[in-house]
Amino acid sequence: MKIANDCVVAIQYQLSNDAGEEIDASGPGAPLVYLHGAGNIIPGLEDALTGKTAGEAIEVIVDPEAGYGPRLNELIQTLQPELFQGVDEVKPGMEFRAQGPHGETQRILVTGVSAAGIEVDANHPLAGETLHFAVTIESVRAATAEELEHGHVHDGHSHAH
Ligand code: ZN
Repeated sequence: MKIANDCVVAIQYQLSNDAGEEIDASGPGAPLVYLHGAGNIIPGLEDALTGKTAGEAIEVIVDPEAGYGPRLNELIQTLQPELFQGVDEVKPGMEFRAQGPHGETQRILVTGVSAAGIEVDANHPLAGETLHFAVTIESVRAATAEELEHGHVHDGHSHAH
């Protein structure tokens, strides 16, 4: 069957940046399994997979706009140390989770500590990057009614509510 909305798709992928360095990849025997059309993966990759079938291999170049978005200066901020209560010493390279403006979980990276406060960057690590995917489609099946209701795949081991 062809990949369309409400399909469960398993892919093997390799993700590289513009410099050709590998950023991420699915492991052997551990494909990425996702619900197509539910925004589970970035839009540029989801669009490219639409209409493809199991066994096909594709290469996709995804611009930041269809990937993790541009890097936004407003997500780079200096925060007061009081916001980091309970942390003994805040150092560059530390990561925290905070709630974003739409209730989503945001990852915040500490980029510097100075007299002015703690400099943080809440951009996604891949924001602003052009993404190069090499993808092989392993399988395509129709989603179950429960999966559609939940908006994600139930593969029996990696899912908890
Ligand atoms: Zn569920």
